[in-house]
Amino acid sequence: MAPAAEELDRHHKFGYDIVRQMGELGLFGLPFSEEFGGAGGDFLSLCLAIEEISRADTGVGITLEAAVCLGAAPIHDFGTKQQKESWLPDLLAGRKLWAFGLTEPEAGSDAGATKTRAEIRDGKWVVNGAKQFITNCGSHVLESYRKLGWHSSDTHPLSFENCAVPEENLLGERGGGYRQFLRTLLGGRIAIAALSVGLAQACLDASLSYAKERRSFGVPISKHQAVQFKLADMAMETEIARTMVYRAAVTYMNTDGETTDEARMLAAMCKLYASETSKRAADQAVQIHGGYGFMEDYPVARYWRDVKVNEIGEGTSEVQRMLIARLLGC
Ligand SMILES: Cc1cc2nc3c(=O)[nH]c(=O)nc-3n(C[C@H](O)[C@H](O)[C@H](O)COP(=O)(O)OP(=O)(O)OC[C@H]3O[C@@H](n4cnc5c(N)ncnc54)[C@H](O)[C@@H]3O)c2cc1C
Repeated sequence: MAPAAEELDRHHKFGYDIVRQMGELGLFGLPFSEEFGGAGGDFLSLCLAIEEISRADTGVGITLEAAVCLGAAPIHDFGTKQQKESWLPDLLAGRKLWAFGLTEPEAGSDAGATKTRAEIRDGKWVVNGAKQFITNCGSHVLESYRKLGWHSSDTHPLSFENCAVPEENLLGERGGGYRQFLRTLLGGRIAIAALSVGLAQACLDASLSYAKERRSFGVPISKHQAVQFKLADMAMETEIARTMVYRAAVTYMNTDGETTDEARMLAAMCKLYASETSKRAADQAVQIHGGYGFMEDYPVARYWRDVKVNEIGEGTSEVQRMLIARLLGC
């Protein structure tokens, strides 16, 4: 993935070939049981994969994260046996990527304000409404966005006008959608925090190697204490974020379908801390590269553009702080 990342970014290309190979490796089925075509791993293994992939390309990392945590997981967690048998095999093999459309033009953080409606007519659900900023929702829908970063990921708006869906496609019990998507977003939050850790690590890798080569005042810049302290902070914060993500992942796994306060707290904390860590790391990485950091010839310029959305997607930093404060009893 790493050698392809620059080109995918420059041309705003979705890596179909990379995604196909990831499917063959079983990455899309990592945390799911073998019964439906999964790899029989667990959620922590998925976080490790997302972290390492995001070290090379966060656009590919978010493709995996959204496909597994937001696309396949709700079917795995809430689907009937028949729904799982008909949909999961293709999703877990990466032959199809599914999307999770929550955000709307007038509702993002305020998820309860969504206006899209589904009503039963002649034995079908008829859906009307609009969704926006939806990852993995396909290349044949409305026009793609001109994004600041994540150029190798697919993001489109969606529009539904009397879109008829078979009644039996309803996922989970009728009226339970809000609870289901809160549970879905919990796993998504931890997994996107793993993406942030991977990007922070990429910033450290690039900065350390550049600092050892680039010379000023007769020595490599890594010998200047001001540069060393930046590198030390990046290494420490990345490690703290990583530890938080792994702990949250294990806690989430052990809740086994339940949404406990402890899992919610750890998910919000690791999402918030890891995204802000990666933001600081990308900023310092560009600073350590000096003028070269501002040029697209070095990957840190891409990291700096890619990192911003980590503080927005799957719940903004403000929303995470609100959740933490609420769980503290405020
Ligand atoms: C590249 C990309 C991919 C995405 N993929 C998906 C996807 O696959 N599926 C999906 O459903 N969504 C997706 N999103 C949407 C994303 O989850 C939302 O953008 C995010 O939740 C914020 O919602 P919003 O954009 O409507 O901002 P708003 O909710 O309008 O927020 C605007 C600002 O106000 C702040 N704010 C809002 N309410 C409060 C409050 N009560 N207190 C304090 N501050 C507040 C926010 O923190 C933010 O800073 C994606 C977004 C991007 C950019």
